[in-house]
Amino acid sequence: MTEFSENIAALQPSATIAVSSRAKQLRAEGRDIIDLCVGEPDFPTPRFIADAGVEAIRAGHTRYTPAPGIPELRAAIAADLQRLSPGAGDIEAHGIVVSAGAKQALFNVCFSLFGPGDRVLIPVPYWTSYPAIVELTRAEPVLVDGDAERSFKVTVDALDRAAAGGAKGLLLNSPGNPSGAVYTKDELEEIARWAADRGIWLISDEIYRRIYFEGDLAPGILDLPGELLERAVLIDGASKAFAMTGWRIGFSYSAKALAAKVSALQSQTTTHAPTPSQHAALAAYRADPAQLDECRAMQQSFNVRKQLLTQLFREKLPDVEFVDPAGAFYLWIATGGLANAGENSVEVCERILQSTGVALVPGTAFGDDRYLRLSFAASEDTLRDAVNRLATGL
Ligand code: PLP
Repeated sequence: MTEFSENIAALQPSATIAVSSRAKQLRAEGRDIIDLCVGEPDFPTPRFIADAGVEAIRAGHTRYTPAPGIPELRAAIAADLQRLSPGAGDIEAHGIVVSAGAKQALFNVCFSLFGPGDRVLIPVPYWTSYPAIVELTRAEPVLVDGDAERSFKVTVDALDRAAAGGAKGLLLNSPGNPSGAVYTKDELEEIARWAADRGIWLISDEIYRRIYFEGDLAPGILDLPGELLERAVLIDGASKAFAMTGWRIGFSYSAKALAAKVSALQSQTTTHAPTPSQHAALAAYRADPAQLDECRAMQQSFNVRKQLLTQLFREKLPDVEFVDPAGAFYLWIATGGLANAGENSVEVCERILQSTGVALVPGTAFGDDRYLRLSFAASEDTLRDAVNRLATGL
């Protein structure tokens, strides 16, 4: 008998953090390492946002706030969502619960909706925390293979087959980490209609929505007809959009009844997102377009890097296949052109790290052992150097 609870029986530390620690260890030993494991923008938080956080501390905003966040921030997020999806019905601040990062928002929502006996559909490849979060609720993650012909986006047929044994929820992520795939509005609508018809909760993680290469903003569920969204939850946050990963600000937007439960859960756990961070995020969500020039420049630089990186791969590693990303900042690379016979993705990554110093994340962390993830949250020179090392070292 173990001392630990069933709650955490299957729990493992985040796989992406494990690889990144290995890269850091080699660097500490004096090796010249290019770490392309990172899941965060390599840009500082824009100055006006950081200043708002500092000013908040000086002004004494260092005490508890209401559990779902300060009213001004919830209102500013609601207004921003309305601006981004002008066709959506009234987006109400009381549907928003601000949390310590999108990860906590996801956890809160899953814990409020799912429990023992429930099945939750997760398209593969998935962001590494999805199955772990579903398991923490003691529901069963049901993995659904994405369609390799469509950048690994999942089809309604595949969802239908997976839901045959029952399903209470679906975790969708667009733009996707690690695939970079982006669902079109029509594809989202087809999936939302499928879920709504079956009473399945659709949890749409749109944290990379502003890092999109085919326009200003990737399609999101708030662009869909309201009648499809009664059982839908939006997850988003400031981490990637405003380069604020360490501030820990994310949110969920849902129907009022669920938001009240999510808020109650949070009030019994972390209480609320950090107060100074909420004030910094308020500056970000309230900013006028001119203030957001720096964020737009960051978003554009991800597009420039994706063009550069995909071009370099085609030129220098022509046998290596990858998904051409439409958003986020990851390249999802098939191990086919890189692996020795019989090697799994962890072994390929370890060999690449040892022989070239380039740190990548094994696809097994995202549910597909035939792939690796490269993060292009790194400068153009770093990316050039990494591809050269891969092309010459392997
Ligand atoms: N969702 C996806 C798809 C992510 O990639 C990440 C972070 O890497 C998160 C959620 C969590 O974001 P946060 O740092 O706001 O918790």
